[in-house]
Amino acid sequence: MRELQEKIRQEGIVLPNNVLKVDSFINHQMDPKLMKKIGEEFAKRFENEGITKILTIESSGIAPAIMTALEFDVPVVFARKRKPLTASDHLYCSSVYSYTKQETNEITVSKDYLLQSDTVLIIDDFLANGQAALGLIDLARQAGAKVAGVGIVIEKSFQEGADLITAKGFRLESLARIESLENGEVSFKTEECV
Ligand code: 5GP
Repeated sequence: MRELQEKIRQEGIVLPNNVLKVDSFINHQMDPKLMKKIGEEFAKRFENEGITKILTIESSGIAPAIMTALEFDVPVVFARKRKPLTASDHLYCSSVYSYTKQETNEITVSKDYLLQSDTVLIIDDFLANGQAALGLIDLARQAGAKVAGVGIVIEKSFQEGADLITAKGFRLESLARIESLENGEVSFKTEECV
């Protein structure tokens, strides 16, 4: 998605350990017009898939997820990163290791909001090692829901997540695919160069 790539080029900051900081339009301040276009693009790519629900993880997945859900006119469910204080067995639960934060989170979704009858589109802001997306896929699997695919705003293609997800047979659509962050420079996969 050309506009997203331009924004990354203009405002993205490459941090050590292959982390891309996009706080000015995704992870802290947000750009609603760009988010709206992101939602429209996901809706175009996954149209005719019979999506009944968007599934994401708090907190940075929520903005692109809700914009996508608006286009499909379906609800958004976000997995929580902390178990509610009131212990409940009415939850689907999966473990997600975060490479950037070097910690494991138990992610949960209430059984009320993911149903066997659902066809789920998983949305997240970044795809790196794929653990967040695989955790969300696992929650959908526990519910018996169908996963129509995974939509990612920024894929770091040089990390293993994209291969892991496609090798498991899931459709993956990423709006910007980064080939390298070497030497502090963002390089996109060649077919998308602007
Ligand atoms: P994964 O589970 O695929 O390794 O990582 C996905 C999560 O880690 C995303 O939801 C995102 O919050 C965070 N993340 C991974 N890499 C980056 C990065 O380079 N920049 C930012 N801002 N977040 C990242």
